[in-house]
Amino acid sequence: MLDQELSTGERAVRDRVRAFCDREVRPIINEYWERAEFPHELLPGFARLGIVGGSLSDHGGPGLSPRASGVAAMELARCDGSISTFFGVHSGLATQTVALLGTEAQRARWLPGMCALATVGAFALTEPEHGSDAINLATRARRDGDEWVLDGAKRWIGNATFADLIVVWARDEATGEVGAFIVPGGTPGLDATPITGKVGKRASIQADMALSDVRVPLDHRLEGGRSFADAARVLASARPGVAWAALGHAIAAYEIAFSYVSGRSSFGRPLAGHQLVQEALATMLAEITTMRLLCVRIADLTAAGRTTPAMASMAKMHNARSARRVVAAARDLMGGNGLLLEYNVARHLTDIEVTYTVEGTDFVQSLIVGREITGISAFG
Ligand SMILES: Cc1cc2nc3c(=O)[nH]c(=O)nc-3n(C[C@H](O)[C@H](O)[C@H](O)COP(=O)(O)OP(=O)(O)OC[C@H]3O[C@@H](n4cnc5c(N)ncnc54)[C@H](O)[C@@H]3O)c2cc1C
Repeated sequence: MLDQELSTGERAVRDRVRAFCDREVRPIINEYWERAEFPHELLPGFARLGIVGGSLSDHGGPGLSPRASGVAAMELARCDGSISTFFGVHSGLATQTVALLGTEAQRARWLPGMCALATVGAFALTEPEHGSDAINLATRARRDGDEWVLDGAKRWIGNATFADLIVVWARDEATGEVGAFIVPGGTPGLDATPITGKVGKRASIQADMALSDVRVPLDHRLEGGRSFADAARVLASARPGVAWAALGHAIAAYEIAFSYVSGRSSFGRPLAGHQLVQEALATMLAEITTMRLLCVRIADLTAAGRTTPAMASMAKMHNARSARRVVAAARDLMGGNGLLLEYNVARHLTDIEVTYTVEGTDFVQSLIVGREITGISAFG
């Protein structure tokens, strides 16, 4: 009944995203997933959904409530994890970095194109040798006259192979500060090679990036990015969206498995009539309900300006863990067919593994929560 508590506007967002997914994404996504290609043909329809930019209300942002933003993320993941990741990287990370850390001039310059999806963004923080400890990032920024010069390497950068604009996090050689630099796609010295052989979210493309003497004008450094804490602020603002996306995966798996066990029989009765199957369904539904309550609570606290980074981490940690259990249970209820792409749960099974690890691993989220509980940082 939680859906009934959505406002008319929030329900309209849900219905728009759901209809787009049913009409345009679901029919084609398994093929793209299998070929490990990104469905570029979806971008125009995506742009018309009015969800890019989330809560941003100026420069073309749709000004969604936190609940509406969350429901949009949930519906995308309920359909497919790859498009959900594309959206999370472009809207939740790249666009929000410009929105949170840009000056008014920088926001006016880049946000309208990003919100219209005319400018696709990427967010380059992770490095080959610095994932969870991105705070120790080694990519360097050096000032040379009227330019910043960037050198280094990034790994796992979503959308980087085709992005128009990449937010690159680098350390200012002179001050040691971590900053965010806007690097247009195709800038000389920038090389993005797709990572192949990935078993989850196969229709979203990540790249290994090499930056060698990449030059951008001075005003391409976002003025509000002065330390790693600013990167952490962007990540914390995006984490509730990841929690909603995990919920979307779990709902999808539950719905698919429920339909399956209702239609198939064994030992002379529907699978749904066996006690153990009902126990599995009841457990899945309880997990989903708990996840949803947490999401709604975080959304309402965000609307009231009261969400802390540790709360966002707790929601991401809890929901990714729960979704992983729900999706695995759904796969099991579908027997061998659960392993086939055409039955759709297998895709969610491997996609949720990605959710479990990205934007801060499960352990990293628990350390953020643990630091808040105890006052002791266990990171170093
Ligand atoms: C599909 C995909 C998409 C991605 N998209 C992007 C993107 O668009 N932009 C971007 O910047 N990055 C992206 N990433 C990177 C992602 O955020 C990192 O993979 C993640 O932060 C983990 O880093 P790592 O892979 O280097 O693992 P590691 O940091 O090496 O972690 C390995 C293990 O060690 C554990 N660990 C690490 N430190 C500690 C500690 N202090 N205490 C206890 N355990 C610890 C981890 O929890 C994990 O279990 C993406 C990754 C994937 C797989």
